[in-house]
Amino acid sequence: MVERAVDHLIVGGGAAGFACARTLREEGAEGSIVVVSRDPDPPYDRTACSKGYLHGSQSRADTLLAPPAWWDEQEVELLTRTSALKLDPAAKTVRLSTKDTLRYRTLLLATGANVRRLRLDGSDLEGIHYLRALGNADAIRRDVEDVERVVLVGGSYIATEVAATLTALGKRCALVMQEEVTLERGFGARAGRFFQDVLEQHGVEIHAGQDVERLEGAGGRVTAVVTAAGTRIPAEAVVVGAGVVPDVMLAQRAGLELGERGGVKTDAALRTSAPDVFAAGDICEYDSVVHGGDPLRIEHWDVAEQHGRTAARAMLGHRVTHDVVPYFFSDLADWSSMEYVGPARSWSEEVVRGSVAEGAFTLFYLDGGRVAAALSVGRGEDLEAARTLIARHADLSDRRAELADLSTDLSALAGA
Ligand SMILES: Cc1cc2nc3c(=O)[nH]c(=O)nc-3n(C[C@H](O)[C@H](O)[C@H](O)COP(=O)(O)OP(=O)(O)OC[C@H]3O[C@@H](n4cnc5c(N)ncnc54)[C@H](O)[C@@H]3O)c2cc1C
Repeated sequence: MVERAVDHLIVGGGAAGFACARTLREEGAEGSIVVVSRDPDPPYDRTACSKGYLHGSQSRADTLLAPPAWWDEQEVELLTRTSALKLDPAAKTVRLSTKDTLRYRTLLLATGANVRRLRLDGSDLEGIHYLRALGNADAIRRDVEDVERVVLVGGSYIATEVAATLTALGKRCALVMQEEVTLERGFGARAGRFFQDVLEQHGVEIHAGQDVERLEGAGGRVTAVVTAAGTRIPAEAVVVGAGVVPDVMLAQRAGLELGERGGVKTDAALRTSAPDVFAAGDICEYDSVVHGGDPLRIEHWDVAEQHGRTAARAMLGHRVTHDVVPYFFSDLADWSSMEYVGPARSWSEEVVRGSVAEGAFTLFYLDGGRVAAALSVGRGEDLEAARTLIARHADLSDRRAELADLSTDLSALAGA
């Protein structure tokens, strides 16, 4: 067993961990940086797993967040296929699966999330897939090669994106979900209906408002998804997108404080309850100044990256506050793309700017007259002003018509 000292230790080689390593160097960190990741791959764009990489239009190399030479050039040590097994915050050490122990000056926990698995009759049949990593996308591609019918379980962005990508690859896709309309939990029924229409227009069959009760199989392989209402949807392969659970095991075992949303609790500078230990990305439940200091945990790519940047500056002793308005994007093949800033935890009304029917709109989500979030399809130019309106908690109770009016200069409205 070797024990060695590291200035900045990062556990997790995803969006947050990589952004932290890069920002540390950009900010002039001269000490040693080690990134520990149990992934077999160097940090890559996980969002491609349901989009270009699954489709085959993006190669593995295309998904890498840094070219292979970057690590040596930047003197950042990357340990792939390596797990952090035990954190001792008092001794400031992390024990690795290689049996080495690293003593850190500052530590970032960015362990991401694991997929939520179905625990139903038949859920261990062959042909049932989950999607979190490039390896899962490879397995799906191999498995659907010779099949015609794929069933997606879930009504959120993973299931809808995979339905679109596999349909674009020539598969017949059916999607079964508890929601009445796709994506409605995060974005409401109006936006959800728009995306569901796009899917249906491209031939995706939707089974809404249904609980999956069991999976049927023959010869050990899945043949159908059966719902509680008795609908039997034939399936030669199934991809489940039933949400994720933050991977807080390391933090929890070390006695770090967790938040009410199941993440690792941090303050607005992403500091955890343990000295010199920070958290970022999907595991991080931080006090969001954009949301009046309320705790926020959110599983978005850009949020993980932005957290990584903030954490790096905090690790270098800068006074920081994570005050970025969270941003999310999703693509349905090359049929439709959305961008979203928010999130709105609740809203009482929606104001449409543009035309939903024509597929060029921004939907503003207002809570008590204040802009809580905005979703854009084909009107990305509205988002910068939307961010400002959200950050400023602008009261537009008397200005809804202006918000909706395409001739209004939104940046002037945001600055008003
Ligand atoms: C298929 C798919 C599509 C997505 N599409 C979108 C999208 O379109 N838009 C969007 O905003 N978001 C999207 N997301 C979500 C986004 O990818 C995540 O929010 C983001 O990757 C989170 O980054 P992270 O760094 O927190 O965690 P992760 O990317 O999950 O990285 C966690 C890292 O920690 C490592 N790790 C965990 N535990 C240990 C340990 N004990 N020891 C060592 N290493 C460990 C893992 O191996 C991994 O490297 C998508 C996610 C998936 C799965």
